[in-house]
Amino acid sequence: MTVTSRTKTDSVLVDAVDAARAALAADVDAAAIGDHLGHDVEGERVVSHYFDCRLSGYRGWRWSVTVTRASRQKVATIDEIVLIPGAESITAPDWVPYKDRIQPGDMSAGDLLPVEDDDVRLVPTYLVGDDAVDPLSQQDQAQIRQVADDLGLGRVRTLSVEGLDQAAERWYAGDGGPQSPLAQSAPATCHSCGFLVRLAGSLSGTFGVCANGNANDDGRVVAFSHGCGAHSEVQLSKKQQPVPLPDHVIDTVATDDFENF
Ligand code: SF4
Repeated sequence: MTVTSRTKTDSVLVDAVDAARAALAADVDAAAIGDHLGHDVEGERVVSHYFDCRLSGYRGWRWSVTVTRASRQKVATIDEIVLIPGAESITAPDWVPYKDRIQPGDMSAGDLLPVEDDDVRLVPTYLVGDDAVDPLSQQDQAQIRQVADDLGLGRVRTLSVEGLDQAAERWYAGDGGPQSPLAQSAPATCHSCGFLVRLAGSLSGTFGVCANGNANDDGRVVAFSHGCGAHSEVQLSKKQQPVPLPDHVIDTVATDDFENF
């Protein structure tokens, strides 16, 4: 039996087990109601009684009948009857919003994944870093958008500082970072590689883009401390050099035979 109390115990409500069972039996088949499992004191003059649920397919579930009473009244009244899961119940997994379930690579041609207005990774282009140029009137905002359009910036929102941080952490910890197996066995880092294309902006001090068509990371962002065996300055040792092939041998006998046909 479970009995918990977060506030002063109300003996009238705690003793109202039979009233709770009777109210439950009026709503559901009596055969579906099992033993009294205990009660919770929900608040002042509010107690929930629990009964085992014997419905097939509801193992571990329990009926909860909440009773209450008015101040200075000695009679419990029924507040709510619900069926709730216990620790062993089979329940649906927690709901995960669609946008949180999408993983890199899940998008197919034609799929749409709208970004929410309050996405912390983006800020309007009239913000400077973290600091809003505020207060801005609607007219000011329109003027700034107009200037952005005139300058050819043309983007309503750009990456916020948090958005940049998230991207940097993800890239650094990913396949293009220094901890990837490819980087761990590389002879040198991307920082000294001739195939590295530099980025502009605040990420330019840590990341670039690999432009080696023979490398696994061609076209991907790589950390300066990443690296691979296709580094522009990699040299083979003498032992690793390919063995030179002998000169071709001309088989004159076979050639003569051929000319006889
Ligand atoms: S070829 Fe290799 S070392 Fe060079 S930039 Fe690309 S990943 Fe880095």
